[in-house]
Amino acid sequence: MKAPKSLMHQLELGRELSDSCVLCGLEHYQAKRYLEGVANDGVNNIPLRQRLMRLGGYCPRHCLVFDELTHLLSSAILFDDFLKTRLARAAAGKRPLNLQCEACAVEQKTRDALMQSIKRYRQDAALQEFLLTAPLCLSHIEQLSRQLPEAVRKQLIAKHDGLLSRLAELIRKHDYRFSDENMTPEEIKSVRQALTLLGVRE
Ligand SMILES: [Zn+2]
Ligand SMILES: [Zn+2]
Repeated sequence: MKAPKSLMHQLELGRELSDSCVLCGLEHYQAKRYLEGVANDGVNNIPLRQRLMRLGGYCPRHCLVFDELTHLLSSAILFDDFLKTRLARAAAGKRPLNLQCEACAVEQKTRDALMQSIKRYRQDAALQEFLLTAPLCLSHIEQLSRQLPEAVRKQLIAKHDGLLSRLAELIRKHDYRFSDENMTPEEIKSVRQALTLLGVRE
């Protein structure tokens, strides 16, 4: 079954949005759109603010995204809500709220929808080609692998053989018996590449 154009366009958008992972790019984009909505009128929306307080506010990463896309007053109003709620619980000796970040939930929903579509169209050559050439983080490789045919899955994993060998060489050359062998610039860079693959954002 051929993947619909809309899915391919969405994936292309992800590639434009992120150098390190197409799917992270798309998830973060949807969460940002949700946070933009809140920034535009949400701080005047009392039921929304009450709901956010019940959920414990946003996670640290999404507090930062919110702060970066809005003006000082909106950040002050929301963060005041979050701090007051959590500090009041702490003051009463209550257990910390189990934080349920709505922006993280938007990312999860995006991820689930993408994984479902990819699974549905996993036999499409164009989709396979895209996924094999696009940058992906480890967490998305792990999730994607389960949706893909075995041959594609193996290729997707094999893409990282080079990185594993460079790391192995770097480790080997730290042994005193091989200390006369110089590390290559690529081997030195491998730790940073591992961090990117592990999902650390620059
Ligand atoms: Zn990712
Ligand atoms: Zn979050």
